[in-house]
Amino acid sequence: MKIHEYQGKKLFREAGVPVPRGIVVTSPEEAATAYTELGGSLAVVKSQIHAGGRGKGTFKDNADQRGVVLVRSAEEARENAERMLGKTLVTIQTGEEGKQVNTLFVEEGLDIARELYLGIVVDRETHCPVLIMSSEGGMEIEVVAEKSPEKILREHFDADMGLLPFQARNLAFALGMEGPTVRAAEKFLTKICKFFVDNDCSMCEINPLIVTGDGQLVALDAKVTFDENALFRHKDFEMLRDLSEEEPAEVKAQKAGLSYVKLEGNIGCLVNGAGLAMSTMDLIKLHGGEPANFLDVGGGASVEAVTEAFRIILDDKNVKAVLVNIFGGIMKCDVIVEALMTAYDKVGFEVPLVVRLEGTNVEKARKMLEESGKDIITAADLTDAAKKVVGSIS
Ligand code: ADP
Ligand code: MG
Repeated sequence: MKIHEYQGKKLFREAGVPVPRGIVVTSPEEAATAYTELGGSLAVVKSQIHAGGRGKGTFKDNADQRGVVLVRSAEEARENAERMLGKTLVTIQTGEEGKQVNTLFVEEGLDIARELYLGIVVDRETHCPVLIMSSEGGMEIEVVAEKSPEKILREHFDADMGLLPFQARNLAFALGMEGPTVRAAEKFLTKICKFFVDNDCSMCEINPLIVTGDGQLVALDAKVTFDENALFRHKDFEMLRDLSEEEPAEVKAQKAGLSYVKLEGNIGCLVNGAGLAMSTMDLIKLHGGEPANFLDVGGGASVEAVTEAFRIILDDKNVKAVLVNIFGGIMKCDVIVEALMTAYDKVGFEVPLVVRLEGTNVEKARKMLEESGKDIITAADLTDAAKKVVGSIS
């Protein structure tokens, strides 16, 4: 689960991680007032979307307007806000369709002496969080990794013990820090690592992490992602969710208790079990097709959930055919067929529908299919199903 920069910074502040002062606004007038309230000679107007690269990104209707802009007057803040709010920002992380900017963060402009990179993720190989730093702040870390991998420093730390002070100092020295800045880094790094663990983050990225003219470390950007499997431990994070930033079909599926991921292809898949869903997608590809989604209705899905699943698949205008692949274990084949019939009548299938069933109550289910008189293609096994569904659209 992703959150906005301003939300991440609020959490950072509460955890004792230094951030600039800032005010959230949703209108040009508020942006002007925020500039005045911050009281400095320099402020930054920042588009709040769930994607990075905003500083270099431009708006769809206005290629001269950037997503992060330095301003020197209330009037400039107002004008920039006017050109950003309600408009679509395209950055290297949004894809060409871009994302609509509904909220801005107006922040005090800081005096930047150095821009560093900081990222924390979980390293699956060592089963430990790893703190990644680089002297190349402000640049995409992927580019640094490719062009100058030696500039990337990594420090694994124990989730229970946190980053130890000597580890923080080692990094600070490796980044060429001296005097009081080393002390500031020790504090900053141990706090941000604790924040990562305490909040069950899957990623925390600060790019840039700056050293100010007077040797302080401040998080100038904040990209925080929570591990969704741990959200039950953080009920209060639900308020931080911005559904307008999420794929509508995925939000709908989540509400129905389905595990759904939208993909680029044109063959809709309804499967029970994540492993079966993966192999179904593999077989579709093997036979020259492209899946439109991953969808696992789970082991004990109800008729309602399965009907909703069909609705979600058929709502996707890219879907040209649907493959239903069910292994009836806990989920009985006849329940799926019942849902299929309901969905068929309620939602309406205008595309070919291929069904492969196996397992509990399969005989009963097949009979229901045969007697339904509906236009459904049945398949003997998974390979047959994949061939038939790919064949139905080519
Ligand atoms: P993004 O990563 O989406 O481009 P950032 O928050 O990193 O957005 O902002 C882009 C750039 O704008 C930063 O690299 C920094 O140079 C500048 N910037 C951002 N916030 C401030 C600030 N508060 N004071 C001064 N410069 C800033
Ligand atoms: Mg950034």
